[in-house]
Amino acid sequence: MISVTEALDLLFALAKPLPVEHVPLGNAVGRVLAQPVTTSLTQPPFAASAMDGYAVIGDQASPGAQFKVIGEAAAGRGFDGDISTGEAVRIFTGAPVPASATRIIIQEDVSRVGDTITLSDNLDQGPHIRPAGGDFEAGQRFEAPRLLTPTDIALLAAMNIATLPVTRRPKVAIMSTGDELVMPGETPGPDQIIASNAFGLMAMLDLLGAEARLLPIARDSRESLEMAFSLADDADLVLTIGGASVGDHDLVGEVAADLGMERSFYKIAMRPGKPLMAGRLQSGAMMIGLPGNPVSAMVCGEIFVTPVIRSMLGLGADPAARRVATLSDPVGANGPREHYMRALVENRQIRALGSQDSALLSILSQANALLIRPPFAPAIEAGEDVEYIAI
Ligand code: AMP
Ligand code: MG
Repeated sequence: MISVTEALDLLFALAKPLPVEHVPLGNAVGRVLAQPVTTSLTQPPFAASAMDGYAVIGDQASPGAQFKVIGEAAAGRGFDGDISTGEAVRIFTGAPVPASATRIIIQEDVSRVGDTITLSDNLDQGPHIRPAGGDFEAGQRFEAPRLLTPTDIALLAAMNIATLPVTRRPKVAIMSTGDELVMPGETPGPDQIIASNAFGLMAMLDLLGAEARLLPIARDSRESLEMAFSLADDADLVLTIGGASVGDHDLVGEVAADLGMERSFYKIAMRPGKPLMAGRLQSGAMMIGLPGNPVSAMVCGEIFVTPVIRSMLGLGADPAARRVATLSDPVGANGPREHYMRALVENRQIRALGSQDSALLSILSQANALLIRPPFAPAIEAGEDVEYIAI
């Protein structure tokens, strides 16, 4: 059995970076910018007013000073000309500031009679002018790789970059295996259960920006498994669920090997998740064989599948981020496998949840953290710091 870290390294070695495609700005949120982009615009393109008021020469702006209003500048319609001593231009937010103006007097500080304004006694500091290029300058780069957020999209739009180079979404085919499984919405027979893991994993993949689809449920027979694998040829990653232990009906490893899968590893020193398997299929796709137990499948999704998808997207080959919290209840000694305990973290305090059986989705759903217990870690008391992964 290899360690979780060794398994992750082998997975990163199997995960190929994906090609670049171009998408319109409007479809780019949640995608990974693959290459830096450069703007040819300067923002603001001109010195712009930050307030509604009057543009004047700053030196002359003293309490009680008077100016003659010689024109108006609005957003999208600048004043054609300049001001000189004793002159002001009525100006609105976003309008270009006349060349000689160095200060905007806000309209609240002005009284106007006809074309003459008089400044009040209490002037604010100003100058309420946004310099040209104050936000960004032509030639400025927006760096990659980067998972694009809504605010990034706003900035890239302002930079007038209408089409973005992004990493293609990883195509993931998910195969449930087992004679006992039916789809949600069906009525399970007396010996049947719902294929839940596949949906949990598909949801996880959706949020990561992958393109996941479900293969038909494979039954515990060679023919059915071969049929399901044959439908996954276009995938970058094939996830199988279950059928990977050593029972009589656990045929996934055997069938995959017969179909030409080059195995990278099988079995890891982890709880839950021991029967994890990985390799490369003849189609070139990477395969990860996940354990069938619902909690094991989802935890392996967090610990292995998520970092693999991020690496395929070009976001780096990094394990799930670890954080630290203080134990509020003691935990017992650990055995030889790294244990990812379902736990609840609140206000930097963490406690392992009651039952750690890897079949209990209700407990996993209450958890917001996986408390990490290294192999052979001794029992620890409340008050000690432990590492966890947020889920
Ligand atoms: P296996 O590894 O096939 O022996 O599966 C281990 C356990 O996980 C069994 O109790 C299976 O019924 C259950 N299981 C396998 N696949 C799924 C699935 N897709 N959804 C929910 N439970 C599953
Ligand atoms: Mg099974």
